[in-house]
Amino acid sequence: MKCPVCDESMERKMVPYSVGGVKLGVFEADVCSCGEVFFTEKSSDAIDRKAKEKGLWGFEKKGKVGYSGNSLIVRIPKKVADFMQLKKGEGILIRPEDKKRLIIEVV
Ligand SMILES: [Zn+2]
Repeated sequence: MKCPVCDESMERKMVPYSVGGVKLGVFEADVCSCGEVFFTEKSSDAIDRKAKEKGLWGFEKKGKVGYSGNSLIVRIPKKVADFMQLKKGEGILIRPEDKKRLIIEVV
């Protein structure tokens, strides 16, 4: 399999996966030297099952960037907010880790 990001060939490896700081185990994935990791379909199913078992289901949600005035807004799923005990008015620190990842820290 070729990496869809950089077109290098990827290697099949066992990769650890965790949700909300809880380790779910190691799963088969295609890994590229550029850092991209793609879990196989079988692994994705196993990850979903494990996450459900541990009550960590629904942490990953697809969303879209919204728009409000001059700012872009991103909705935080209720499950994630509950897990992090986030409340309205809470202070956060937002910083981009790279061009594809955003870190939001509660301060
Ligand atoms: Zn790559």
